[in-house]
Amino acid sequence: MLLQKRLKLLIIILLSLLVINTFNACEKDDDTVKPEKKETSDKPKEDKKEQDDEEDGITLYSVDGYNITKKTDYKVSGKLLELQKDSKKHTEIWNLVSKIIPKGYMTFFNEYLIITGEESGVAGFVVQTREDLTKWKIGVAIDMAYQGGFNTDGELSYTIIHEFGHTLTLNNVQVDSKRNSDNCSNYFTGEGCAKEGSYINVLFQKFWKDIHDQFLDTGDDESKKQAFYEKYKDRFVTQYASTNPGEDIAEVFTHFVIKDKPTGNTIANQKVKILYEYPELIELRNHIRESLRIGTKSKSAPVIKVWKRGSTIGKKGQKRS
Ligand SMILES: [Zn+2]
Repeated sequence: MLLQKRLKLLIIILLSLLVINTFNACEKDDDTVKPEKKETSDKPKEDKKEQDDEEDGITLYSVDGYNITKKTDYKVSGKLLELQKDSKKHTEIWNLVSKIIPKGYMTFFNEYLIITGEESGVAGFVVQTREDLTKWKIGVAIDMAYQGGFNTDGELSYTIIHEFGHTLTLNNVQVDSKRNSDNCSNYFTGEGCAKEGSYINVLFQKFWKDIHDQFLDTGDDESKKQAFYEKYKDRFVTQYASTNPGEDIAEVFTHFVIKDKPTGNTIANQKVKILYEYPELIELRNHIRESLRIGTKSKSAPVIKVWKRGSTIGKKGQKRS
């Protein structure tokens, strides 16, 4: 009996030791699992990141000429879900894009993204979808497009012309994506090396080269950027244009399209006037103005404002806002 009891006790001790041991082991397992857990908890983040890469994407369409086909509805909720479901609005915005961009230039676009601009303040953007700059995505903030009613004061028209201005000046015909900054003696756009006679290189060589070092010195310092603009105000059609040569040419192009030919001779005026030297740009200007009926009695040009636009540098390429 005693031996049996002792054996029982021993078994109990052994068992409890085993339990403690396995418990410890579990804890240890937990420890070793932790990084794994981290990874899994990181995964949704990565997914989110992909979504973030779509710059607050709501719905993505593929573009073929003027036709659009829905590709992806991103995970959104609440008010954004309402905007996602409102495909009539998606189409209404697209119809304005189609009015502005002539058929021959639509070939540069293969994606159309509906975004929300609420948080970022981005009204629109473009980004190349192919490294060689032959194809682009245009993103439009649906909430901003309908602020105070559709295209109030022509703000949406302005945004689309501006974004188109980016693709017009940064596509493969204008910029060589294969040449990096090390072997680029012209203006390097970030997407590639601007070709000799490209619109942006001409603008850069004539109106930026002498102040480029000062511009680079401003870096990310907002007050320095402000001072740079104040100093060279007469060179820029808007303050936003002083962000960089890429924004400058998009703003200059927009002013070229929506305003009368400048009569003054400030550097800002000269930048706009230079675009009149390109017959294809005059054709483009006429097309957009006729399409939007700008300059007719019934319709005046969009009101020119500087909209808040987010900064633009992404890993895959520069997103132009
Ligand atoms: Zn821009």
